[in-house]
Amino acid sequence: MSPAPPATLPLGCESAPVLRERGQREVFCGLTGIIWLHRKIQDAFFLVVGSRTCAHLLQSAAGVMIFAEPRFGTAIIEERDLAGMADCNEELDRVVDRLLTRRPDIKLLFLVGSCPSEVIKLDLSRAAARLSVKHAGTTRILNYSGSGIETTFTEGEDACLAAIVPELRADASDAPSLMIVGALPDIVEDQFLRLFAELGIATVHSFPARKSDAMPPVGPNTRFLLAQPFLGETARALEDRGAIRLDAVFPFGAEGTTSWLHAAAMAFGVDEMHFRRVIAPGRERAKRAIEHSRARLDGKSITFLPDSQLEVPLARFLATELGMRPVEVGTPYLHRRHLARELALLPADTLISEGQDVDRQLDRVRAAQPDLTVCGLGLANPLEAEGLTTKWAIELVFSPIHGFDQAGDLAELFARPLRRRDVLRV
Ligand code: SF4
Repeated sequence: MSPAPPATLPLGCESAPVLRERGQREVFCGLTGIIWLHRKIQDAFFLVVGSRTCAHLLQSAAGVMIFAEPRFGTAIIEERDLAGMADCNEELDRVVDRLLTRRPDIKLLFLVGSCPSEVIKLDLSRAAARLSVKHAGTTRILNYSGSGIETTFTEGEDACLAAIVPELRADASDAPSLMIVGALPDIVEDQFLRLFAELGIATVHSFPARKSDAMPPVGPNTRFLLAQPFLGETARALEDRGAIRLDAVFPFGAEGTTSWLHAAAMAFGVDEMHFRRVIAPGRERAKRAIEHSRARLDGKSITFLPDSQLEVPLARFLATELGMRPVEVGTPYLHRRHLARELALLPADTLISEGQDVDRQLDRVRAAQPDLTVCGLGLANPLEAEGLTTKWAIELVFSPIHGFDQAGDLAELFARPLRRRDVLRV
């Protein structure tokens, strides 16, 4: 079961040439993922080993939450560390010891690499192994990189989850189980778990789990559904452990969510009529909610600048369910295998670009004059000043947008800037 294609446009970008750009880019680094990951894994702590810049990024991105939920922090690398005048490993050990003494509630500690820790070649995997031995029995210590040299925005989550996969216990049961992969807001996760239970799929796990000791088992009987399109490394790590990925479009919109659930239903032998009965109320609710934004979005053109890797599935949702015309869909990284079904549903004349050369891309935006441009915070204001209407890409990552009950809100996120533009013009 796949989303219906738009009625008039020829479809299929799955084999279309991709414009590959390798110039200056305007994207957050992977540290940003800590903002949603620290809320998801409730007994984890994210210790960024970085500079004051990294600390400022987290503080400003997290806003007031940093005071309310102290589950992340920064071990500052000072100038004398950068100059090689201090033993960073000793300092790091001291910081970790102090933190874990003060906070015995931390059960999973991530040492998160940054640009400065990479520049001085601080080996955080060795540090994590050393500290794990020291704190064995109380806190597990893992590491991953969120540095802007290695990762963009959502790739931080991918790196974090991929670091957990080798730690997952082996699944010893004979029965197949389903794993939902990707950090979702709890309310959305609960909606999906309810639907899978109604479908009769007996064992369903979420990865990551809300508690570090409740992470799911993995093995050849694991079938997993990616909930996010930016989890290439995590998927590969799960496949290395024998798990099998269920190919599906991503659960955005009424049709996308139907298709995603259907992939699991087919893999677990759910009767087709039962599937349709279970999903019908949610699907209808989603369709009605989306309809509210259709008049505003139908026929409008849209360009996505590369930001979160959500761009291709969102463009598919807007094209197939709301009649929008994607002009250019940019993504920091294009995972062709995971996105094959999505690309097949985009109008054939959509330009797909991977990576960024920001000046050249802005030239294309100015030439195309799309009705709506989805971009990062730093580009939105200048483009608005030039008369273009923009949508902040970061909102799409921080808002609940997956599943039937969020489909209307997702459509509304795109309709709102156009409504504001129309009001201002009047
Ligand atoms: Fe900046 Fe690099 Fe720190 Fe990210 S990791 S805030 S890009 S210095």
